[in-house]
Formats: sequence, C-alpha cells, structure tokens
Amino acid sequence: MAVQGAQVQDVVVIGAGMAGLLAAAALARDGRTVTVLDRDDLPDRPAPRPGVPQGRQPHLLLRRGLTAIEELLPGFGDDLRAAGAVPVDTGELAWLGAAGWSPPSRQVEVLLAPRPLVELLLRQRVEASPGVRVLGGRRVAGLRRGGPGEPRWWVDAVPVGWSDAPDASPGDDPAPEPWPADLVVDASGRASRLPTWLEALDVAPAAVDALDARVGYSTVRLRLPTEKVGVAGVVLLPVRGLGGGLALPTGAGWWTVTGVGADEQRPPRDLPALRDYLAGLRDDSLARMVAAGHLDGDVATHRQTGNRRHRYDRVPGWPDGLVVVGDALCAFNPVYGQGITVAALDALALRRADARGGLAAPGGAARAVRECARLSDLPWLMATTADQVLAGLPTSRAPVSVISGRWIAELERMSAHGDDAAQGALSRIYQLVAPPTSLFHPRLVARWVRARARGYGPPVPRPAVLRDDAPDAVGGAR
Ligand SMILES: Cc1cc2nc3c(=O)[nH]c(=O)nc-3n(C[C@H](O)[C@H](O)[C@H](O)COP(=O)(O)OP(=O)(O)OC[C@H]3O[C@@H](n4cnc5c(N)ncnc54)[C@H](O)[C@@H]3O)c2cc1C
Repeated sequence: MAVQGAQVQDVVVIGAGMAGLLAAAALARDGRTVTVLDRDDLPDRPAPRPGVPQGRQPHLLLRRGLTAIEELLPGFGDDLRAAGAVPVDTGELAWLGAAGWSPPSRQVEVLLAPRPLVELLLRQRVEASPGVRVLGGRRVAGLRRGGPGEPRWWVDAVPVGWSDAPDASPGDDPAPEPWPADLVVDASGRASRLPTWLEALDVAPAAVDALDARVGYSTVRLRLPTEKVGVAGVVLLPVRGLGGGLALPTGAGWWTVTGVGADEQRPPRDLPALRDYLAGLRDDSLARMVAAGHLDGDVATHRQTGNRRHRYDRVPGWPDGLVVVGDALCAFNPVYGQGITVAALDALALRRADARGGLAAPGGAARAVRECARLSDLPWLMATTADQVLAGLPTSRAPVSVISGRWIAELERMSAHGDDAAQGALSRIYQLVAPPTSLFHPRLVARWVRARARGYGPPVPRPAVLRDDAPDAVGGAR
C-alpha cells in the first residue's frame, strides 16, 4: 500500500459505465491496481441493466468521441465494426433541421451500435489492461479519509439490497467492504452521491448549474430489412413547440425508432399513442418505418435528460486524491449526443495529468477536476444555448451570442438550400471535431454573400426514406 500522497498505486473507480471504464483505461499501468466497482451485476452479453436506465435509448458516438476512445484503446473502432456496429456518414442521414432538409453529401463517419454492446466491448478491453479488475454487485455507499499510516481513502462498498438510510435497522446487513485507494474516481453518472459524501467529509458544497428543457425519449426496436430503407438514418430535430425523433440502424437489420420532444411535446409511453405521435411530426417517415418493420419488445421511455453541472472545479480546498468524470461531473441533454465523448475527453485529461505525476501531487486532483470541467465548457454552451430556445427561455443578449445565433441560423438556411459546405461546417461543430471559430471561415462568408445577392436556390427535396417513397420536389416537411 502506498504512503499517503507519494504516488498512485491503488485506484478505485466508482461506476463501470462509459466514464468509469474509460478512466480505468486511462489510468491502468503496470505496478498499479485499478478497481472498478459497480452497483449492478455486470452482464457478459450486451444487455440493458438498471444502473444505466438510458441503456435502451439510441446512443450515437460522435466522431471526436471515437477518436478519443481510440487514443486510449487503439483499434476500438475495429472491435465495434467486427461486433456489428454500422458505419454511417452523417451527410447520408436524412436530417430535418429548423430550416429544412440537409443536402445528401459526404461529411463525417460515425459508428452506430446499441449502447449495451459498446459498453460490453469497452469493459472487455479494459479488463484486459494491466492491473484492472471490474467488479459488479458492489454499490459504493461512502467515502472515508484514511488515518495516519493508512491509504489516503477508504471506499465503502455494500452488496445490492443493503440500506444506508439513517433510520435503517442494522438487521442482517454485512459490514461494508472497505477498498483502499490513493486515488478515487467518481464515475457514478447522474446518480452520483458525491455531494452527500463531501458534506460528510466537511468539504464545502459545490454549486450546481442546471437547465432542464424537459426532454423525453420513447424508443421502439424493430427489424427493417436494409433494402427497404433509402437513407442511412433519419434525424428530425425537435424544435420549439414541435416534437422530433430519430431512426438509427444498430446492425444486422435492427433499428431503433425514437420520438424525442420537450415539455408538452414529450413522446408518450405506449405504442398506439407513440405511433400517432410519430405520424404527427413535421415529417411522417418515422411512423412509416414503424409501420413497415417488425417490432421487438415494448416502448422504452426515458425522461431524465436535464443539463446538470456540478461546479466541483470551484470548491475551495478540494481533497487530494479525488476526481470526478462523466455525467457525475457534467450531464447534458442527450439530444446533442455529447456525453460519451466528454467522458472520453475527461479520461484523456486524467491520463495526461497522470503521466506528469500530477494526480499524486498536492493540489493535483483539483487541477484535474478543473481541466475536466473546462473540457465540458463548449459542449455545455452548445447544449444549454440550444435548450434555452427549445424550452422557450430568454436567451443571452450579449452581442457575441446574438451574432453567433443569427449566423448559425443563416448557415442552417444555406444548408437547407443545398449548400453542403455550410452543412459540413455545422456537422463538424456538432461532432466536436472543429472549433466554433471555423463557422466564420471567409469561404463560408463569401458563400453567404453570394446567396444573399443571387438567392439561396431551391430547398433540398425531402429524401426518399423508404425505398417506395417518391422524393418530394418541394421540400416536403410540414
Ligand atoms: C436518453 C439518453 C440518450 C443518450 N444518448 C447519447 C448519445 O447518443 N451519445 C452520447 O455520447 N451520450 C448519450 N447519452 C449520455 C450518455 O448515456 C452518458 O453521458 C454516458 O453514459 C456517461 O457515462 P457515465 O459513466 O458518466 O454514466 P453512466 O453510463 O450512466 O454510468 C454510471 C455507472 O455508475 C454505476 N453506479 C451508480 N451509482 C453507483 C454507486 N453508488 N456505486 C457503484 N456504482 C454506481 C451505475 O450502475 C452505472 O454503471 C444519452 C443519455 C440519455 C439519458
């Protein structure tokens, strides 16, 4: 066991979701033990589980997320492809934005697969890393500082069913199992109990930034032979006062079709009402896909989607040897598909800090937490700015925000009139592979000036989503 503070020998990661597994991959090295504890029994096949209630909802791994995961685990994209993930060029999705349909083009390749499959493959890769063990059936119930001559932390894990309510009778509950750690990584997602544990440790509370557009997801899984579908997938962006949805292939002829809407437009929980909901969207292609496919299982609903950011980066006297990553630090409205990518960027930040010896040094954990918080600044700005509009909340009146908002609306309009350079620029921002300044490239400005002078051109026609559809020459969306 390490002398307190000298080095990181024992790492305990709380949570074996995407962020916890990626953090374990980042911190694994010879001569070190990385123990990942999860409350769930972890299945050895790709199956949803209670600790990840969003597991039956579609998960799109942004391009930046895949490259970040590959930096940690080279060849992970090939693993995903070999397991059946579907490579899709985002320019081949039938994409209906606020201004209309985007033109078909070549943009950025992403991989589509069910979330439980991605997580299983990741767990198998991480378990093969030096010194890593991933243990299910252990819920972390508390965090204690070690005494003199002890490790820095004790992480108390309890079996499933154990009650930690203050008034619970001791009963037959076994004593918590204490795990020693020089470094603790909280990766327990939206359900993180870290605020409570910090309070018990007399650490000042962290402020919470929150914006909840009250977005809901309702998803059905269906089989739809590839030859029946004319596009790589469908995205109908939810806009203020109107619901939206998406249809994404998950491999071997399987699709998920999802209604996505905010507030009054949240999609319903039962199948007949969901069919009606999909039929009433700006475009009825999702309803027709459901009608054409063979459904498997019932409707999976999820409504815990608010943007929520714990400002641990601003807590004075942040404890050494404790870091927070993934949704436990910053969770986003999932409509923008950023969560796994930010978790992977957090893991890369931990790896960089570790390589510098920065995690064991006094103040090193606080610096790492600040770095992870900084990495979520841009995705947070993108998600919350769009959600203010979606939720009908007042938006920032700062000149830079007003000008950016108007310029993005112009690029969307150019895209909906066939400008694939405008579409590509927006797509690269969305995929987090280009900085926002790239939206102001002189070439785009020149194209806009030309469009203003000569007209934007005809709107992009509605794509033939099902092969039987005839493309609609006038744009199609209601
Ligand atoms: C509807 C929906 C759709 C989404 N779609 C996308 C998408 O398309 N693309 C994308 O990138 N992201 C998407 N996300 C976000 C993505 O799911 C999360 O950002 C990502 O899973 C974060 O990983 P995490 O490890 O922080 O949390 P999770 O993956 O939620 O994992 C947390 C883990 O901690 C465990 N745990 C919790 N408490 C304890 C405890 N006390 N002790 C031990 N273990 C514990 C849980 O069992 C779980 O395994 C979506 C989210 C939702 C809700």
